[in-house]
Amino acid sequence: MAESHVVVLGAGLGGTIAAYEIRAALKGKARVTVVNKGDDYWFVPSNPWVAVGWREPEAIRVNLPPIMAKQGIGFNGSGATRVHPDENRMDLGDGTSIDYDYLVIATGPDLAWDEIEGFGPERNTVSICETASAAQAHAKFEELCANPRPIVVGAAQGASCYGPAYEMAMTLDTALKRRGIRHKVPMTFVTPEPYIGHLGLDGVGDTKGMLESEMRDRHIKWITNAKVASVDEGTIHMVEVNEDGSEKKTHDLDFGWCMLMPPFRGVPALMGLEGLVNPRGFVIVDKHQRNPKYQNVFGLGVCIAIPPTGPTPLPVGVPKTGFMIESMVTAVAENLKELHAGQETTHEATWNAVCLADFGDGGVAFIAKPQIPPRNTNWASEGKWVHLAKIGFEKYFLRKVRKGQSEPFFEKLAMHAMGIKKLEMN
Ligand code: FAD
Repeated sequence: MAESHVVVLGAGLGGTIAAYEIRAALKGKARVTVVNKGDDYWFVPSNPWVAVGWREPEAIRVNLPPIMAKQGIGFNGSGATRVHPDENRMDLGDGTSIDYDYLVIATGPDLAWDEIEGFGPERNTVSICETASAAQAHAKFEELCANPRPIVVGAAQGASCYGPAYEMAMTLDTALKRRGIRHKVPMTFVTPEPYIGHLGLDGVGDTKGMLESEMRDRHIKWITNAKVASVDEGTIHMVEVNEDGSEKKTHDLDFGWCMLMPPFRGVPALMGLEGLVNPRGFVIVDKHQRNPKYQNVFGLGVCIAIPPTGPTPLPVGVPKTGFMIESMVTAVAENLKELHAGQETTHEATWNAVCLADFGDGGVAFIAKPQIPPRNTNWASEGKWVHLAKIGFEKYFLRKVRKGQSEPFFEKLAMHAMGIKKLEMN
């Protein structure tokens, strides 16, 4: 039987390991091609360290073409400009077009800066979502250290990734203390979450108590239920809302450095494709990660559509973290294997979450199984070990990407995290 062609669209955290795992699962049955925007993989979870100068961007970059070639995986770094699911093909940035039998979409988010006036790295705030912007945020951080002024950090309404906002706030606090200038830099955390530690997950264990206590201890003020109206150079304008969404109070905060996680939406190459994506551009998938209309298309990672955990006064999206993404990757690879054996798809992702929120000198870890409550495991813990575990996570994951390894990693991390904590307590 002729080999089929599987195209993996996007080579971030999900797409890279998906390509390795699908290649291993379908050896001799399918050829695999990765289409990415750019030739490099960046370890995004280390971006807060880049923003304070603790990591050089180069240290978290992996150049993919030689690694993919070694794995027998085709690679195109020009990106997709438009997917044509009715024709099983897509247009690429280099002017060519590529056909597929199966498509695995792992494009991550498009960052919706334009939805708030004056927002984003091209305008008046900085970003840590991409390593290149985190490097620009670092240059601005050095300017702030030379001329100390207030910091505003957090997330905008509609964001669906809160862990990095908390990490950034605490890491800035640690970095400023090390430079001996923390007392000159007032800090405010602003978020659409209804309470500190909600994280888009209605909390995990006592993340509310832990993160509030951590913020009090570090003299970081906070405003929850905060909706950003606009940002001028050096001033952010916000509305704090009541339970019913009505206006409670307005705030105008001056800043010398401001980073808020943006709302996410689907990438332009997919936007508006009826049946493939929802109105926000997120890929619609069933419990087997498969699109109901285009059954040869799968989705995984931040680009898929997941409903919020429950109603909140402002839109607060559900995060898609590494553990969860890894379980989607395995389900997609196993389901593709079944389809190539003439069987029906049966594999489902576990959608568990493990998160290490590093604060530079300590941190908070949580494990939510499953991610959406009510849960079987609801575990949160804090301490210096979290900072060390995050360094280990970075090293281990980068080594995995560099070696083209396909075995699951986050499940082990979760077990180790709970094990390390147990050892520390004994
Ligand atoms: P991405 O990693 O964003 O990858 C998407 C890829 O698709 C990119 O390479 C992009 O260039 C490519 N792409 C986009 N459009 C196209 C196109 N048209 N054609 C081709 N390619 C395209 N999770 C954790 O579990 N732990 C953490 O500590 C953690 N920290 C985080 C810190 C930050 C700052 C952020 C933003 C997120 C963090 N996350 C963390 C959440 C999540 O794990 C990451 O966002 C992760 O990178 C998401 O993986 P992904 O594969 O879905 O998307």
